[in-house]
Amino acid sequence: QAPVLTIDGPGGAGKGTISRLVAERLGWHLLDSGALYRLTALAATKHDVALDDEPAVAAIAETLDVVFLAENGEARVLLEGEDATRTIRTEQVGDAASRVASLPAVREALLKRQRDFRQAPGLVADGRDMGTVVFVEAPLKIFLTASAEERARRRQRQLREAGVDASLSSLLKEIQARDARDMQRSVAPLVPAEDAVELDTTSLTIPEVVDRLTELLAR
Ligand code: C5P
Repeated sequence: QAPVLTIDGPGGAGKGTISRLVAERLGWHLLDSGALYRLTALAATKHDVALDDEPAVAAIAETLDVVFLAENGEARVLLEGEDATRTIRTEQVGDAASRVASLPAVREALLKRQRDFRQAPGLVADGRDMGTVVFVEAPLKIFLTASAEERARRRQRQLREAGVDASLSSLLKEIQARDARDMQRSVAPLVPAEDAVELDTTSLTIPEVVDRLTELLAR
């Protein structure tokens, strides 16, 4: 079976960027599991399914019509044939994603789809429970963290680049609320796997983190 590197941690710790860069450097596949929860939430909203209707949202997750594309080095995602690349990145969809992610039947429905990403020559799996649930036997597990304040600043910078102004205090509140929900939920709560290597990125640059991870993998 192809090797897997799992990268878990709270939102805004840099998992997305780091996972993509590490996957590019290794020439491995990339699983953005958060995108699957975001797409499930978006599809539920589109079909007027209440986000707490567990069997209905699980059915949506099970039959999710999604295509991940890489065009000229740019990643795009189609939901039911429509471009959803930008839509799934909004705070609103992120919030809805963390709600549907607390439903056990939804997590179960997305398991096989996530495991199918494991293909030669290898997979970098980005999420919350990659090392604790989805790829328990992964040889290298990373738990990326950063202080909530630093994560709020990063998010603000990201939004500014997208032309959106948001106050630091409101972003910090959202991040803390999302953390609390992800850590306190009863299914697959956000905790480091017992055998995970924890890496605090608060004062590290992106290239420093990528180097550190490729070093760990080479061991
Ligand atoms: O990582 P991202 O912000 O895209 O994830 C959106 C939400 O999906 C998270 O807040 C979390 O609740 C949920 N999620 C999860 N398990 C994963 C990935 C994401 O519960 N493996």
